[in-house]
Amino acid sequence: MQEGCVFCKIIHKEIPSKVEHEDEMCMAFHDINPRAKVHLLVIPKKHVATMKDAEESDEPTMGRMLMTAKKLAEKFKLADYRLLISVGEKGGQEVFHVHLHLMSAPE
Ligand code: AMP
Repeated sequence: MQEGCVFCKIIHKEIPSKVEHEDEMCMAFHDINPRAKVHLLVIPKKHVATMKDAEESDEPTMGRMLMTAKKLAEKFKLADYRLLISVGEKGGQEVFHVHLHLMSAPE
């Protein structure tokens, strides 16, 4: 748990979120400011600030996040969709806890 991290607070249920998936490695919930009809965020339970900080030992978690996004896309019956990770301030990252955006394609 990283002090002041909004996504760590979501993991620890200190702030509310609409959870779609949770397991021992990762969690998925709805983006508070959706930019698509379906917009979910998949995050590791371990605090990793950016993909630049990910270590070899995080590989299983990162794989689990991708597969979780794929399964959620199936659950929401998304034909096509986007998976996006912003890395660093100039990469558009606003929340410094790794998150994978799952966004439905425009209809
Ligand atoms: P990024 O710009 O890639 O860092 O994306 C951060 C995302 O986190 C944005 O799409 C925000 O809308 C979303 N976000 C920030 N705070 C929350 C929250 N409390 N619950 C859900 N989504 C959030």
